[in-house]
Amino acid sequence: MKCPYCSHEEFKVTDSRNALDANAIRRRRECLGCSRRFTTFETIELTIQVRKRDGLYEDFHEEKLVSGLQAACRHSKVSSDQVRNIAAKIICEVMDQQVREISTKEIGELAMKYLKTMDTIAYIRFACVYRRFKDIGELMEAIQSIDPVDSHLAAKA
Ligand SMILES: [Zn+2]
Repeated sequence: MKCPYCSHEEFKVTDSRNALDANAIRRRRECLGCSRRFTTFETIELTIQVRKRDGLYEDFHEEKLVSGLQAACRHSKVSSDQVRNIAAKIICEVMDQQVREISTKEIGELAMKYLKTMDTIAYIRFACVYRRFKDIGELMEAIQSIDPVDSHLAAKA
């Protein structure tokens, strides 16, 4: 990113808040070169790189996150609106950290945090894919970490 006035590349962030659409963040920036101020609207696709398990990087794709969540929530009580809502919360949380990169593991952990509160089956399905459980013991541990009230649901997953 460059200053629109002098092309300097260092800034101070004076204010940042979520834009109307939760997928963008609005930042007031002050150029450290010419001290002029301007506003940027950043989307997660533009600002954060995802570090994959193999160590390679890729752009953040909201659609990938949504489709992963949707797959986990199929035949569960979580609606597609709720899936979008979870994705938006994850994106907000990631952007609030103001980091340049995040690992797929960290995104997975955030997704699990939200799914866990909504639907046990969806949570376990997602956890299976994201954590790629090494063995059944790890899967059982994940199941046992769920609120016992919901454990009868876990048995069906
Ligand atoms: Zn400047």
